[in-house]
Amino acid sequence: MVARSRFSDRLAPAAAGRCRFCGAALEHTVVDLGMSPLCESFLPADQINSMEPFYPLHAWVCGQCFLVQLEEYVGGEAIFSDYAYFSSFSDSWLDHSRRYVEQMIDALGLTSRSEVIEVASNDGYLLQYFVQRGIPALGVEPAANVAAAAEARGVPTVVKFFGRATARELVAAGHRPELVLGNNVLAQVPDLNDFVAGLKILLAPGGVVTIEFPHLLRTIEGNQFDQFYHEHFSYFSLCTAERIFAGHGLPLFDVEELPTHGGSIRIYAAHAEDRGREPSARLLELRGREEGAGINTLAYYAQFEERVRETKRKVLAFLIEAKRDGKRIVGYGAPGKGNTLLNYCGIRTDFIDFTVDRNHHKHGKFLPGTHIPIFPPERLMEARPDYVFILPWNLKTEIMQQLAGIRAWGGQFVVPIPELTVCQ
Ligand SMILES: [Zn+2]
Repeated sequence: MVARSRFSDRLAPAAAGRCRFCGAALEHTVVDLGMSPLCESFLPADQINSMEPFYPLHAWVCGQCFLVQLEEYVGGEAIFSDYAYFSSFSDSWLDHSRRYVEQMIDALGLTSRSEVIEVASNDGYLLQYFVQRGIPALGVEPAANVAAAAEARGVPTVVKFFGRATARELVAAGHRPELVLGNNVLAQVPDLNDFVAGLKILLAPGGVVTIEFPHLLRTIEGNQFDQFYHEHFSYFSLCTAERIFAGHGLPLFDVEELPTHGGSIRIYAAHAEDRGREPSARLLELRGREEGAGINTLAYYAQFEERVRETKRKVLAFLIEAKRDGKRIVGYGAPGKGNTLLNYCGIRTDFIDFTVDRNHHKHGKFLPGTHIPIFPPERLMEARPDYVFILPWNLKTEIMQQLAGIRAWGGQFVVPIPELTVCQ
């Protein structure tokens, strides 16, 4: 299938069954999650009686470079035609972004004469903090509705896909940023080599690239199979990221481990031509830990699928027991990952009455595949459920604080990952 992504205007390599980075044949399964709908395609009420496309959700690992990836994917236009993800709806994500901005201003000595560019800048959730500090910032964001929200908060934004072509246009227009960043975008790039080559073109000599993504080591160790969905084409360890970035003349010199999205890493890259940047101690340490875990061996990936199946059995066992006892169960959140979990486990309104989300763009719509309705958060408190099933489990602490009121009627929280847990 020929695919376009929201993050590249180039056609993705159409060679199904070939590694997105090195081109080797894909022969080794990480996990087969069956057929699933696109997890960001929330359905309006007038579409729930229509046919809904389902696609294979099958993760592979490349036997040559160990990049974990989906073989089949769907065109970005289908995925992102009504893009509903707005970063600013999570308080903890905003705090995380503000701290990053302070850290980078100090570390790089950024001033009003510097420039920062964020690729896939979403609604300006992060760049707004650079703008507030008087540092010139530019967003590159292909979803026009999301980019408009960024402009409204004072963040200049170019509505573009990113890759070599856009990088050359920006450089020709006089942009040469000292800092280029991208958060939770790398996974969504079908033409990975075009994207990373674009970073190389755009970055000023002596500049720094930082990229954040969920850490594959944590995905596997934490049994986070719901990180796999069609919108995420690739899943990175530090070791695979090092191979890919070094392959494009941007060797990594540092890495930070972050708690976001269930365990992420932030990699730091610079031009290979820049002298004097030795790999940091923490990069060497994490690389050693990954190698020690066997992340560059096929055996590491071979046992994941059975753990995922056992998780499904445990989640269903809990839900069946709760419903036999006459309990009311309501969901919290409508994240992409939740739809992987619900569809893989076959959980519909027979188990979960409805879910709620703070993003008003999703209200009145239905979860893809399972058709669980999405309401505003107030509805949850009115319903007084026995259990709140937390789908964005990576935000469970924040959510349990927000919903502390459910304890007034004895309500409890259910967290499905890494293992089903009931919290008072
Ligand atoms: Zn490969």
